Amino acid sequence: MRLVLLGAPGAGKGTQAKKLIEKYRIPQISTGDILRKAVADGTPLGKEAKVIMDKGELVPDKIVLGLVEERVKQNDCKNGYILDGFPRNTAQAEALDKMLNDLRMPLNSALSVDVPKDDLMKRLTGRRTCKSCQQMYNIYYSPAKKDGVCDKCGGELFQRGDDKEATIKRRLHVYDAQTAPLINYYKERGILKTVKGIGSIDEIFKNVCTILESKK
Ligand code: AMP
Repeated sequence: MRLVLLGAPGAGKGTQAKKLIEKYRIPQISTGDILRKAVADGTPLGKEAKVIMDKGELVPDKIVLGLVEERVKQNDCKNGYILDGFPRNTAQAEALDKMLNDLRMPLNSALSVDVPKDDLMKRLTGRRTCKSCQQMYNIYYSPAKKDGVCDKCGGELFQRGDDKEATIKRRLHVYDAQTAPLINYYKERGILKTVKGIGSIDEIFKNVCTILESKK
């Protein structure tokens, strides 16, 4: 299964992707995670990306496309993958279609995770991530047992640079302007599926699986 996950920042794409990985045994390719790793490693690409990411803008298409192309050609992607946070605009979607057609491995589905705007803001400003194991928490919905400390590994919890309020507003605006049009893009190509992204993680996941496995 080759799947694109669509949805605003905070819609829970990453969370659902993690559950899909376990069920379908295919990797998640998150361009945000790949870029954050480059930032953490202090590579030249990471240094360039950090400035853009902290403003809530999109990293140039050329950089992201190179990262994705390299990744989908790896061996663990031969049975499929979940693209999370990519494509982010029409140019990326067109480039992805071309790349996958050349590889004769077109996408099967684009799944849009739909969450109302008010919920998104709380989810994003409340988000905390473990520095060591990347486990995510939310101070409103799913706090760690001990403030600032990861339940799983005892690591320190932090707020991502791009989860600050001004950056979040910018990221939501960028989503509306550049990424939301992809919903129509995939609808026109007949591979769009939509799931409501509210409720418990497990309820949403159940709906995700039903929708992905339905023939329509
Ligand atoms: P995410 O974790 O997917 O919300 O991504 C965090 C940030 O990484 C975004 O706000 C962008 O600055 C950058 N980023 C992630 N994926 C892409 C992409 N496909 N195209 C351009 N920038 C991206």
